[in-house]
Amino acid sequence: MPESGFGDSVCFDIGMRTRFRGITRRQGLLWQGPAGWAEWSPFLDYHGDEIRPWLAAAVEAAEVGFPDPVRHQVPVNVTIPAVGPEQAYALAAESGCRTAKVKVAEPGQTLADDLARVEAVRDALGAGGAVRVDANGAWAVDEAVTALRELGRLGLEYAEQPVSTVEELATLRRELLRRGVGVPIAADESIRRSGDPERVKELEAADVAVLKVQPLGGVRRCLELAELLGLPVVVSSALETSVGLAAGVALAAALPELPYACGLNTRALLTDDVTADSLLAVDGMLPVRPITPDADALARCAASEEDAAMWAERLAGAAS
Ligand SMILES: [Mg+2]
Repeated sequence: MPESGFGDSVCFDIGMRTRFRGITRRQGLLWQGPAGWAEWSPFLDYHGDEIRPWLAAAVEAAEVGFPDPVRHQVPVNVTIPAVGPEQAYALAAESGCRTAKVKVAEPGQTLADDLARVEAVRDALGAGGAVRVDANGAWAVDEAVTALRELGRLGLEYAEQPVSTVEELATLRRELLRRGVGVPIAADESIRRSGDPERVKELEAADVAVLKVQPLGGVRRCLELAELLGLPVVVSSALETSVGLAAGVALAAALPELPYACGLNTRALLTDDVTADSLLAVDGMLPVRPITPDADALARCAASEEDAAMWAERLAGAAS
């Protein structure tokens, strides 16, 4: 696709092991620039100006490269989808990670399902383990108060985006403090989709900031944002291939402080990768290193001509 100005890109299409945020396949473009390989994979429900930061992130990776790391490996969590307790236990136990992020508030499930899943994961990790939950904004404030009071008894590191808006996060956080429910709040969607990440700081809506490189416009932009927010940061992925994950790892490696495990061990949620040398955690840690796709893997993961044409059109739209 030389006409785009982004060199020859390749379009990938990879299945997900479990449905995650409503999707079952992950697609995007990869291209190589002077500084390395870049991934551009905005979710299909991102449109218009929302996909521009994703392009800025890819341009940084291809053209500029990443800032110098201050650490050479980063701790990561295992992500537990909204599965039953037996499967949740097995996923946590097999992961080698000391921290788990457990999906809660899944449509069609109950608080009892969430409690059973979190309890199973807590058992699997043992005494030294840390458990956090992610509701992806699905609870109303009163539901979140009830759920976090119950789930909080099992010991939570934090609750990620328990309610939808920044205002609701702020209300919930005050309400939990008032009731003595000691569950810190992490903002995720409220930072990357609100259009105004600083509002989280203004309203004192969160204790932790979840930053994702692609939706927020690159590693350097995330470092600026982290400084501006003045909150501890958890770097998470946007369910990328190892090429995109490497950008997240670069951010986690460049942050002055990294008090929490990062949500970058998501290669395990995909059925394949664009390299045989995937960024997969060993003993809960990911190495800081560049990723180069290999020809066999790219051929295996190639998207249909139809999808590749759709992505070329998306890229042209984002770049115009
Ligand atoms: Mg999240």
